[in-house]
Amino acid sequence: MRLSTFAPLFLNNRLTEITLYTTGKCNFSCAHCFVARRLNKKYDELTLDELKKIGSFVPALQRISLSGGEPFLRKDIKEMAVLFSNSWRAEHVVIPTNGHFTKNITETIEHFGKNGKGRLRILFSLTGIGKEMEAFVRVPGSFERWKQSLASAKDAAKDCPNVELGVLSSYHEQNQDRFFELMDFVMNECGIEDFSFALVRPHKRYRPKLNLDRFEQVLLEYYKKRNKQPAFTRAYRELYREMLLSYYRNPRMIVPCQSGKMRIVISPEGDVYPCETLGFPADHPEPWHIGNLRESGYNLSNLMRSSRAQTLHRKIVRDKCHCHDGCDLSLSLLASTPFKLKIFFRGMKYLMMPSPGRGASG
Ligand code: SF4
Ligand code: SF4
Repeated sequence: MRLSTFAPLFLNNRLTEITLYTTGKCNFSCAHCFVARRLNKKYDELTLDELKKIGSFVPALQRISLSGGEPFLRKDIKEMAVLFSNSWRAEHVVIPTNGHFTKNITETIEHFGKNGKGRLRILFSLTGIGKEMEAFVRVPGSFERWKQSLASAKDAAKDCPNVELGVLSSYHEQNQDRFFELMDFVMNECGIEDFSFALVRPHKRYRPKLNLDRFEQVLLEYYKKRNKQPAFTRAYRELYREMLLSYYRNPRMIVPCQSGKMRIVISPEGDVYPCETLGFPADHPEPWHIGNLRESGYNLSNLMRSSRAQTLHRKIVRDKCHCHDGCDLSLSLLASTPFKLKIFFRGMKYLMMPSPGRGASG
């Protein structure tokens, strides 16, 4: 564990987390996809050599998420994961996947297990069970492929203590009535304890009708009865979801957003923005463009220190910007002292309680 990667959470003054859109290609057409209009266009994606150059201008990071499109459509994803861990010094390399590309997923785990210095977390996205998933992502056979990839990944990860596997689910209109079933499937049938779920993100072309009371029941069930994570992780994840739920009920700024300072988004072609909503994959991101890495000699540090980056972040704070993006909210919450105190007190409470048993229900 590299201590330097935790410093930003306490100092709140520099880049901590990057979401890199590795590719614009995807073989799915999910109903809720907020990248849909940018998918499968022609991109001159940043190459591995270019990413190596950027590495010398990046501070130690707490986390880098390799987003897409589907990241495992990139043939060099395993080399990228090791590069971000060893040269960019990211403590956690996170790859969300639709679970379709079994061979590349398995090879990435094996390669990282041998060569990665930090930790790799692969999150298998599950939108529903069986035909429900296939209808949602519009790819026949996708559910069986998903299960096959997860089984193969679990097998490969047995020998790789630096690789964690999780399942990621959005709570959306089509699965909200069967979300408990989904939870049972993940924890009992798939044998995955790291189940990360959140309210689906609405956007211009997707306005779901969500049953928020039911989501509250899901939270209660999972965190009070099933979650077996360490006390402070459990406290943080539960509190963050409660905050997100309160935002969906009453949208307003909860804490000043740290996007553009602690977190940034990089498009497949190296354009840097504060976040997805004010950048890639939004429709008109120009006013929020911090700069392009190719045009800036790959020097990300200079871009982040530029007066443009600072002006944009000041504007975000001054305008009390807020949105439904949970990634940014979780980091912004972590940077807030009252929230850190809440985590501390709830974590202490969980430390003194017996751990919930997995699979308990009702
Ligand atoms: S797998 Fe991800 S990128 Fe592909 S369509 Fe679905 S949500 Fe969009
Ligand atoms: S509140 Fe949302 S839209 Fe505004 S800067 Fe933060 S992440 Fe972006």
